[in-house]
Amino acid sequence: MEQARRRELIARVGITIGVDGPAGSGKSTVSKRVALDLGIGCLDTGAMYRALTWYALDQGLDLGDHQAVAAAADVMPLVMDSHPEDPHVFIGEREITADIRTPRISEAVTSVSTNLEVRHWMAREQRRRMLAARASGSGMIAEGRDITTVVCPDADVRVLLLADPEARLRRRTQELYGDQTEAHLAATRAQVEDRDAADSTVSEFLEPAPGVAVVDSSGLGIEQVVAQVLALVDRNLVERTRS
Ligand code: C5P
Repeated sequence: MEQARRRELIARVGITIGVDGPAGSGKSTVSKRVALDLGIGCLDTGAMYRALTWYALDQGLDLGDHQAVAAAADVMPLVMDSHPEDPHVFIGEREITADIRTPRISEAVTSVSTNLEVRHWMAREQRRRMLAARASGSGMIAEGRDITTVVCPDADVRVLLLADPEARLRRRTQELYGDQTEAHLAATRAQVEDRDAADSTVSEFLEPAPGVAVVDSSGLGIEQVVAQVLALVDRNLVERTRS
């Protein structure tokens, strides 16, 4: 389908797209590219967990105190735009876009993302953002771990993006260090394995739920993966606008 046609149909019926996958599966790059093609927003749900981690630490909270961290989510002045090309994250007036990618936050985020009260809060907030975008005649692609299963199991398009562990490790290392030396691969391996193991205790993101399309990006270039997701979008738009 032509891009203009897709955009016209989205303006008529709106769209929600959920993309789940493990670290390094390429979900953030793919989601941004799809959002740009469709002219819709892109919600980086990992950034929301990272922002709450930053805020809780800034407030001097003990991340092990689950109730206090969940209560902080309710009052956190989070401002996040969902522009796919140039996303920004603020707490109040303070921009934290770069801060939330530092190792300090990457190491601490698991304590926050395994907090079940926080997960409820996140799911509610993420779903609200997705449905509001759809209702306004646009849409949102949200990427994370539990979008297709918990946050928006009724999303118009649901994708689980997988890649073999070696491909994921190489991508993540390139992202973090800008190269793939043995030392950097080893450092990233430990971080990614620990995080995947902790994350998998609270959400299932290596097996597709019923109705979720699997896209395996191992050995595929970004363009090919984007094309597969756009084909799923086209099918959904045609179905919903058939009459
Ligand atoms: O995707 P990213 O690495 O930025 O996510 C940071 C952390 O947030 C993940 O390691 C995971 O613990 C958590 N997360 C989550 N559910 C999501 C998105 C992220 O648990 N939907």
